[in-house]
Amino acid sequence: MTSFLTHRAHVHDARLPIRRRHSALRTCITLFAPYGFRATYHHLTLSAAIPPRLEADPDALVRAVEELHEARVLWLARAEEYAAQRRAEKRAGRRAVVNPRPWWLRRWWEDPNRAWYEDPLRHPSLRLPEYVRRQNAILDGADLPGCPACGDEGPLVANSTGHGWVELCRGCAWVLTPCPCGQRHPFVPETPFKWKGIWERAHMSDDGMPNPHWPADQPVGRGKGA
Ligand SMILES: [Zn+2]
Ligand SMILES: [Zn+2]
Repeated sequence: MTSFLTHRAHVHDARLPIRRRHSALRTCITLFAPYGFRATYHHLTLSAAIPPRLEADPDALVRAVEELHEARVLWLARAEEYAAQRRAEKRAGRRAVVNPRPWWLRRWWEDPNRAWYEDPLRHPSLRLPEYVRRQNAILDGADLPGCPACGDEGPLVANSTGHGWVELCRGCAWVLTPCPCGQRHPFVPETPFKWKGIWERAHMSDDGMPNPHWPADQPVGRGKGA
């Protein structure tokens, strides 16, 4: 069994203390996180409706890990196909990696989805399996309308970098038009966030709905780490 599957089993295990199961979910996200660790966790708290008090709905953790698992299965199949294709290419003497790199090998700091790493609230609203399906289809050459990440077709948002402009997807802050200087610039979150608050699901209510008072009731500050 791979590590992911072992920890997934722990999330399911109702005999374990709920905190232990939550920490197993965390480990699963460190092993596979299509939106990056923090944004993937934030996405799952919303899609699986994980309440601040885990005891209020222990099944929420199972819903979260199952969504992640479903996406991971789709990714694994495509990644294995890609690895086989690369082996064949190398045997044929083509060693250079073809561009564009597959989405799971992108380096976040130079990629259009950098914002998701700098602001855990900015990520596509797609369920993770839908996102993976979309990315795999693009890798296979599909020409899909809208933002490559989330499919939003609305007007772009222009952001100044001080010496030029970038145009972002209004939904997920994916960079659709990069800065003319060619660099990827850090993304400054619109609402300063406190990671601890997000980790403890201060943005959620115990009935599984988003907390209507968040983030007004959290002290302003930047969270660090996970
Ligand atoms: Zn988008
Ligand atoms: Zn620039």
